[in-house]
Amino acid sequence: MIKNFLTVHNIDAHFDESMKKHTTFKVGGNAMCIAMPDTVEKAGVLIKFLKENNISYYILGNGSNVIFNDNGFDGVIIKTSNLNFMEIENNTVTVGAGMLMTSFSKAMQLKGLSGVEFCYGIPGNIGGGIYMNAGAYGGEISNCIKSVNYLDENGNLNTISKEECHFAYRHTEFMNHKWMIVSAVFEMQQGNSEEMLAFMEDIMQRRKDKQPLDKPSAGSSFKRPAGYFAAALIDECGLKGLTVGGAQVSEKHAGFIVNTGNATCRDIVNLADKVAQIVLEQKGVVLEKEMIIV
Ligand SMILES: Cc1cc2nc3c(=O)[nH]c(=O)nc-3n(C[C@H](O)[C@H](O)[C@H](O)COP(=O)(O)OP(=O)(O)OC[C@H]3O[C@@H](n4cnc5c(N)ncnc54)[C@H](O)[C@@H]3O)c2cc1C
Repeated sequence: MIKNFLTVHNIDAHFDESMKKHTTFKVGGNAMCIAMPDTVEKAGVLIKFLKENNISYYILGNGSNVIFNDNGFDGVIIKTSNLNFMEIENNTVTVGAGMLMTSFSKAMQLKGLSGVEFCYGIPGNIGGGIYMNAGAYGGEISNCIKSVNYLDENGNLNTISKEECHFAYRHTEFMNHKWMIVSAVFEMQQGNSEEMLAFMEDIMQRRKDKQPLDKPSAGSSFKRPAGYFAAALIDECGLKGLTVGGAQVSEKHAGFIVNTGNATCRDIVNLADKVAQIVLEQKGVVLEKEMIIV
């Protein structure tokens, strides 16, 4: 039934697909189906169809902050990568959810439109970045957002203002709903392209110097606890190199758990729980996972 629907509506899809291919941690079992609509209208009819037929679904950005269960996902993954469009009108830019944050940041730098330089090097896309309120080097994606367009659980298109998004540190209103972000409107500032490029190259170099970018991961495993840095706490507890199966606390950056080759989702979750337990015992600080386990 789902195969027929996807063919009729000309929606690109793969069946019995390994989630290792779609997540930066490279773990997880197979999804029954992964569908990649290339228009907002197709995404809307797909959500409506899945709801009407009681088929579970999950919205996936670039998979850089999620890990899927080793048993896989018995439903449809709606991946936003084909919603990759951008319209510029003076300082106002509308961007599709599927555009990578790094590509958006670079495109803005070339136009001398400032505000999202800090996104350069974050491996998620616009939809995932907004859902997480991604941030780095003093910036957060919420800073220059004007409004966000999303499909609700019935597949209907709506718009929400920046204020209604309730942006906070790694928290947004989207976490309270089963909505699919399809695009966002950004209000940019006029900037100096050369200065923007210099900042972007500098932060990219800092990432390469400090982060274990040669190994699969989901970036920082834990949120920053108020008044502390998760990586410093983990390091002070002597946990660099701590291993469970194929999951390891990075030797290079204690805030990252990496996949040394054959990690399972279970290995990663067990290691993260172990780290949080030791930090609580030794430092009295609660660490909350930043990565999302599906
Ligand atoms: C090496 C590395 C470095 C990183 N550095 C940073 C950093 O500096 N700062 C930072 O904030 N993060 C960082 N991250 C984490 C990650 O890149 C961000 O959290 C990013 O915002 C996730 O985007 P994504 O598109 O990959 O989302 P995904 O991982 O695909 O999804 C994350 C969550 O968003 C939801 N979601 C995704 N797209 C949509 C949509 N269109 N509509 C509704 N819900 C959606 C998913 O359901 C999921 O719950 C890093 C990760 C890695 C691997």
